[in-house]
Amino acid sequence: MSDFSGLVAVVTGGASGIGAAVVNRLTEGGAQVAVLDLSASSGGAPYSVQADVSDDRSVRAAVGAVVARFGRIDILVNNAGIGAEGHVGDNTDEEWHRVFDVNVLGLVRVSRACLPYLRLSPAAAIVNTSSVVATTGLPQRALYSASKGAVLALTRAMASDHLHEGIRVNCVNPGTADTPWVGRLLATAENPAAERAALEARQPHGRLVTPEEVADAIAYLASPRSGSTTGLDLAVDGGMQALRLRQPQ
Ligand code: NAD
Repeated sequence: MSDFSGLVAVVTGGASGIGAAVVNRLTEGGAQVAVLDLSASSGGAPYSVQADVSDDRSVRAAVGAVVARFGRIDILVNNAGIGAEGHVGDNTDEEWHRVFDVNVLGLVRVSRACLPYLRLSPAAAIVNTSSVVATTGLPQRALYSASKGAVLALTRAMASDHLHEGIRVNCVNPGTADTPWVGRLLATAENPAAERAALEARQPHGRLVTPEEVADAIAYLASPRSGSTTGLDLAVDGGMQALRLRQPQ
């Protein structure tokens, strides 16, 4: 479990859910981990900076603080994200701008600020958190899906731009994962237990994805062990994207 020894990782959205699981996994693997999150909670990381990925100045200051503290950045996990519900007619321009500002431009801002340091790393990797909605049409998620589709396309474009600089760029596409985010969604449902059962039934493996499963996939893509893997989207979705199962008779 020492794939990351000597390496410094930045995890956005590391205070909660998938990000916090990534913090644990990378720390267990020997990385020094810095969390960048709106929340003051550190997600268990010994070092965190309060930052808003939708604010370029805040991002630059946070990345500067990480470099001042650790002297380098080897791994960037662009995981901070927000959701949106509705079909294409439902969301206002402001909502479209806000979700893209966090989910897409947030990734752009943090990557841009980290690139000079990643270029100096012998084991540079960026891993972005996309979603199953980037590859599979789900109802009532038009805006969110568009933003995560952009994350997937950007992952491939970045992988091709930065390969020659020794920076690998991949993403994960989680299915519905059991995080505080989904907890908040369930809390607003008329019947949270029935809603949870419906979400579980939508996953071919019959349950929600755990944050730790997503974190393990992210850790693999961030690790020097995946040195020949770049431009990949790795589904962690219980088969949701790839499988068409027969219902039992
Ligand atoms: P979460 O709400 O538990 O955690 C998200 C974290 O991002 C929070 O700590 C929040 O403070 C932080 N954040 C939000 N906006 C920010 C901003 N502007 N600047 C800095 N930090 C900000 O959610 P999660 O379920 O762990 O989701 C993490 C990522 O995984 C998101 O990108 C989400 O789109 C993606 N994802 C989640 C699921 C799921 O079912 N939970 C499925 C697929 C993809």
